[in-house]
Amino acid sequence: MSSRGKYVVAIDQGTTSTRAMVFDRAGRVVASEQLEHEQIFPRAGWVEHDPVEIWRNTRRVAAAAMAAVELLPGDVVACGITNQRETTVVWDRATGEPVYNAIVWQDTRTDALCRELGGDVGPDRYRQQTGLPLAAYFAGPKVRWILDNVDGARERAERGDLAFGTMDSWLAWHMTGGVDGGLHVTDVTNASRTMLMNLHTLDWDEQICAEMGVPVSMLPQIRSSSEVIAPLRSAGALPGVPLAGILGDQQAAMFGQACLDPGEAKNTYGTGNFLLLNTGTEPVYSEHGLLTTVCYRIGDDPARYALEGSIAVTGSLVQWLRDNLGIISSAAEVEQLARAADDNGGVYFVPAFSGLFAPRWRSDARGVIVGLTRFANRNHIARAVLEASAYQTREVIEAMEADSGVALSTLKVDGGMVVNELLMQFQSDILSVPVVRPVVNETTALGAAYAAGLAVGYWESTDDIRANWAQGGRWEPSMADDRRAALYRGWNQAVEHSFGLA
Ligand code: ADP
Repeated sequence: MSSRGKYVVAIDQGTTSTRAMVFDRAGRVVASEQLEHEQIFPRAGWVEHDPVEIWRNTRRVAAAAMAAVELLPGDVVACGITNQRETTVVWDRATGEPVYNAIVWQDTRTDALCRELGGDVGPDRYRQQTGLPLAAYFAGPKVRWILDNVDGARERAERGDLAFGTMDSWLAWHMTGGVDGGLHVTDVTNASRTMLMNLHTLDWDEQICAEMGVPVSMLPQIRSSSEVIAPLRSAGALPGVPLAGILGDQQAAMFGQACLDPGEAKNTYGTGNFLLLNTGTEPVYSEHGLLTTVCYRIGDDPARYALEGSIAVTGSLVQWLRDNLGIISSAAEVEQLARAADDNGGVYFVPAFSGLFAPRWRSDARGVIVGLTRFANRNHIARAVLEASAYQTREVIEAMEADSGVALSTLKVDGGMVVNELLMQFQSDILSVPVVRPVVNETTALGAAYAAGLAVGYWESTDDIRANWAQGGRWEPSMADDRRAALYRGWNQAVEHSFGLA
C-alpha cells in the first residue's frame, strides 16, 4: 500500500474494546486494529475499567493500525477520538495516576445518591439545565462518589491536584503530552453527559457542580466536536498529527450515518442500544422518557441537539449468555441457536441488569426471564435475548414519535449486533418499517474521523459526508399485524415483572 495518500485516524474507545481505524476520503476503512479490555465487576451492580490498561491499548492499536498499512505520521492529516460516554476517571495531574478505576456508565452504585440529590423535586431536578434525569448513568454523581469514597480525594481535588474526565479527556490529556503539559479538554457532546453542563450556555453549571459536590477546578475545558485542538505528542505512532475532533460514541455514529439534518435518526446496537434523533439548533425536551443532549458542534457554528433513547443492555446480554451462562462460545453463535427455535416459545427476557433506561427509567428493575414452560430450551432463551433488543428499540421509537409528532419511515442501524440477520429481520417485523444498514458499519469511528477531517479541510463540508453514505443492507417487514401485537403485548407484560426487584 502506498503511503503517499492522505488519511484520517480515529480512536474509538468503546465499552468492550479500543479500536484504531484509518479512513480514506471516501470514508472507506483502510486499516483497523482492536484490543478488548477487562470488565471488572467488584460487586453486583458495579462495573469498572482500568484506565491505565485502556491508555496502553490505545497506544498499541494506534501503532498497529499505522504499521498494518505502513503509514508514517506525515500521511495522516488529523486524528479524532470517540468514546464510551459517561464513564468517569479521576486522575492526579502531577503523576498521571488514576485515583480509582474508571466507573463505567452501566454502574449503578450512585442510585441512592441520585435519589438523595433529587430531594423533594425528584429525578427532574436538573432536567431544564442539563436535559437529563438524575440517574446513576451520568458522570457527575460518579465523580462525587469517588471524592466521597477514595481516601484524601476530596482534599486533593479542592487543592486543584486532581482532574476529572470522561474517556475522551483521559486519552486526549495523555495524547497531547500527559504530565508534560497535556491538555485537559473534552467536547460539548461528552460534557452534555456529565449532568454538570448547561445545555444552553454549553458551559459548566456552577450551581449544579456545587450541589453535586464537584469542584469546577477538576473539570476539563469544553471544546467543539470538530476543531483543531493541538498536535499529538505521545500517542505512539502519531506525533505531530493534529487532534481535531472529539465526539461521544453515539454522537459520532450520527456523523458516521450522516444524520446531519433535523429529523434524521439512527439506532446503534452495541453493548447497549442508542437511538438518536437530530432536532437541529434548539434543544427539545422530552415528555416520554428521552434525554435531551448535544448532537455535535462544528467549530464556531451553533450546536445541534438531539433527542436520545438510551437502552442499557442489548449486546451485553449476548455477552452475558456467553460469559455467565456459557451456552454459546461466541456472540455470533446466538443466531444459530435462535434459528433452531421457530419462535420464542412464549419466553421473554427483560435484561434490566442496570435497571431500565429509556423510556422507563426504573432503577428498581432487575433482569427477569418469564414465560418458561417444560417446553422451553436454550434456543428459546437465545431468541428471547435477541428479541429483547428489538422490543426495547420499539419502546424508544414510540417515545420519540410521541415527542416529535413524526412517524418513523425507515430505521438506520449500525453497531456490532447488526451483523445478526435474525435480529435485523425481527426488528423490521416488530416495528413494521424497513431497517437499513450502511456499507461502512463502523459509523462511530467513521464519525470521529469525519469530525477531525472536517476541521482540517480534508472534507470540505458536511455535504461530502452525506455523499459518502451508501446502503449496505436492507430488511423489509413481513410479520402479520396480530402476531406483532401479541408479541409486543407479551413483552410489556414481562417488563412489569422486572419492577421492584432492587
Ligand atoms: P461497543 O462499541 O459498545 O463496545 P460493539 O458495537 O463493538 O460494542 O458491539 C459489540 C456487541 O455486539 C457485543 O455486546 C456483542 O455481544 C454483540 N455482538 C457481536 N456480534 C454479534 C452477533 N453476531 N449477534 C448478536 N450480538 C453480537
